Amino acid sequence: MSPIPVTLLLKPLTLLLCLIHVLWPLTAAAADASAEQSLPATIHVGSPGLLELQPVHARYHLELAPLSAQQVFDLAAGEWAAPEKATINIGPQKHAAWFRFHIKNELNTDVDRLLELRWPHLRDIDFYQRRASGEVIHLKVGLSVNGFEHYMNNTSYLFPLPLAAGESSDVLIRVHGNSYLFLPLFIWDRDLFIADHGNQLMWYCLAFGALLAMMLYNASLYVFTRDRSYYFYSLYALSILIYEISATGIGNRYLWGWSEWARLNVFVLSINMSFLCGSLFARYFLGLEQYGGWCKWLNSITVAFWAGSGLLVLLGVTEVYGLAESMSLFTCFAALITSMYLWKKGNVSARYFTIAWTALIVFTMGTVMMLNGSMPYNAFTQYGQIIGFVLEMLLLSFALAERINRERKQREEAQQVALQLQTEISDEREDRVQAQQQLLELQKQTNKELECRVSERTDELEKAMSELEAANSELEKLSVTDPLTTLSNRRYFDEVLERELQRSQRTQKPLALVMVDLDHFKQINDNYGHLAGDDCLRLVAATLKKLVTRGTDLIARYGGEEFVVILADTTEDDAYRVAERIRSEIIKIHLIYGGSRIPMSASLGVAGVAMGRVMTPGQLIGAADDALYQAKNSGRNRSVVAKTNVS
Ligand code: GH3
Ligand code: MG
Ligand code: MG
Repeated sequence: MSPIPVTLLLKPLTLLLCLIHVLWPLTAAAADASAEQSLPATIHVGSPGLLELQPVHARYHLELAPLSAQQVFDLAAGEWAAPEKATINIGPQKHAAWFRFHIKNELNTDVDRLLELRWPHLRDIDFYQRRASGEVIHLKVGLSVNGFEHYMNNTSYLFPLPLAAGESSDVLIRVHGNSYLFLPLFIWDRDLFIADHGNQLMWYCLAFGALLAMMLYNASLYVFTRDRSYYFYSLYALSILIYEISATGIGNRYLWGWSEWARLNVFVLSINMSFLCGSLFARYFLGLEQYGGWCKWLNSITVAFWAGSGLLVLLGVTEVYGLAESMSLFTCFAALITSMYLWKKGNVSARYFTIAWTALIVFTMGTVMMLNGSMPYNAFTQYGQIIGFVLEMLLLSFALAERINRERKQREEAQQVALQLQTEISDEREDRVQAQQQLLELQKQTNKELECRVSERTDELEKAMSELEAANSELEKLSVTDPLTTLSNRRYFDEVLERELQRSQRTQKPLALVMVDLDHFKQINDNYGHLAGDDCLRLVAATLKKLVTRGTDLIARYGGEEFVVILADTTEDDAYRVAERIRSEIIKIHLIYGGSRIPMSASLGVAGVAMGRVMTPGQLIGAADDALYQAKNSGRNRSVVAKTNVS
């Protein structure tokens, strides 16, 4: 057997379509021709090599009632029918079928060949070879028999085919089972078979290795990403792996040949699991839950069917084969239509899915057509499905890798945008902080300036206030001061006299008033002029200041050439003595004007308020004035104490 041509892997689609077109009519014609013959064509065994049995070499008889091999050998030619397909295949049958072959050794030597039945899904197989000598060799194999007890335990069912030189031999194969009664048969030289079988196993192992690698890779992706697409993809890869291990007969030979349950159920279960996991993978990979609508419903139906049918198989109900076949078609095309629709809607994953799924369908179609007899049994139809699976798995792996890449890119872009945004925000924040700082600085400066100005203004105000105060006190002073003598004036005197009178009454202390009037002052003015008169007034004032020094006393100019002295806490007697001293000092004033001394004297009236007596200012002034009047009348230059006040 030749290995799978590389071109098959490279251009599967075009090649398949060409093959279908070219081979279909030919094989159909061959089947028609064979149907005409009533006896099988003899199989001529010649020089060592591979001999592939064709439908023309086979005749079959359905066993409607139990028959022995001998009875079947003895059946009339008319009881036999020719297979009408491109392969020795009579489809699924309820009854057992007997296949008959006629083999002739063309050589002059004995040969010991092998008959290979390369279809591992038949439940019961009985092989009979009737030698020319009459000896009948019988072997029983099939899924119902422990694989480890088969003749030469192999992935295919093998039967010994000894032929003596020139011997003609009849072979009967009775098959019974739920699946297709399909018999791809080959007659091998033993050495050639062993070499070829090794090759075949190597190719299978390569394909299984690829599936296993993809399964493990995606399982690890699931562990890291927790994305359910990878989870179902690895389960899908595992299911396909089990399916292929089972379909190729490797499972029965190496793994579970000892278990009848496994021999009869693993294959069917793996089909259910493949469709179930494939549908679930499609659901998450294409994001069908987000799309919703009919896409999701179609998928849900397939998922429910395959889960249910898998469960039935586990429960021992195996009679779902017919429905499962239609459902596989439905699942394939539902997935294809959905992914094409989503591809059109811009789903990038759907593009890869469509291509991968199409590849699988196209390749599987080869196998399916071979199974139903539309296409002959050849390398392409035999290995088509496994190639399709590997190709599909590879494409989907690419798709998943592309998805990782796409998502990473999207994440990077989002991160970039976030970073940009963060930078912008931090820039803006910095700007704002800077602006705030500037504002604060400005505020500080403004405050400082304001404080400065306020303090300046306060200083100015304080200065102005103190100036005002000074001016006011000056004004006040001026208002109570006599400008000529700088003594207190009459107004101030009136105020003080009233106050002192009240105090004397309150404190019960005496108070005295002395009234001074310069004598003949008019004459002084007349004789020496007013300026001289003013000087005289100033000198008298100075004399008064000199004599009356107590802080509580007050000297004031009462008017013209009249002065008053308030003496607090002073009796009339004491006041009189003060008056006399004043008088004597005035006489002494020595003022020269125009070469002569101005003669000066004064008359003084003294009035006092005795302790406990109440007097108004008018009464006291009046009393002093009266005393003064008496002094004038008595000849001037004297002091008189008011008579009324003498107690
Ligand atoms: P008597 O002895 O009776 O008091 O006579 P007298 O001249 O002093 O009194 P009289 O009342 O007749 O005159 C007062 C004079 O004082 C009149 C006036 O010219 C003068 N006199 C009043 N005030 C001033 C002043 O401020 N300066 C000067 N130089 N003379 C003044
Ligand atoms: Mg007078
Ligand atoms: Mg006078």
